[in-house]
Amino acid sequence: MENCIFCKIVKREIPGKIVYEDNEIIAIEDINPQAKIHILIIPKKHISTILDITEDDSSLIFKIHKIINKLAKDTGCSENGFRVVLNCNKDGGQAVYHIHYHLIGGRKMDWPPG
Ligand code: AMP
Ligand code: ZN
Repeated sequence: MENCIFCKIVKREIPGKIVYEDNEIIAIEDINPQAKIHILIIPKKHISTILDITEDDSSLIFKIHKIINKLAKDTGCSENGFRVVLNCNKDGGQAVYHIHYHLIGGRKMDWPPG
């Protein structure tokens, strides 16, 4: 998708600090981290919002969850805990319209979120 920063990172047109990659998924460090650990898990396929996910994406979405688990363990925040966030549209605070899961850890999270 043209003019999508995450598609551009996938295609290496702009830089990203890649911490995981396979044929379907990339994970990068967030450029503006909100905690010690803040990783974005991004499908290479351009899907604009969670509302655009279809049945065909089932295995992709499962795989994303497996990678989140792996990254949480690898970064050492799985035991204490962490937060996974997927923002949707304006009120959800979505800024980049290519779905991405925030893995945030390394500190105690507040609830309710801001
Ligand atoms: P969201 O508000 O859920 O759409 O989140 C977008 C996230 O992408 C924010 O946490 C940004 O800091 C992050 N971000 C934006 N541009 C980049 C980039 N070039 N590399 C890494 N993270 C980025
Ligand atoms: Zn995209």
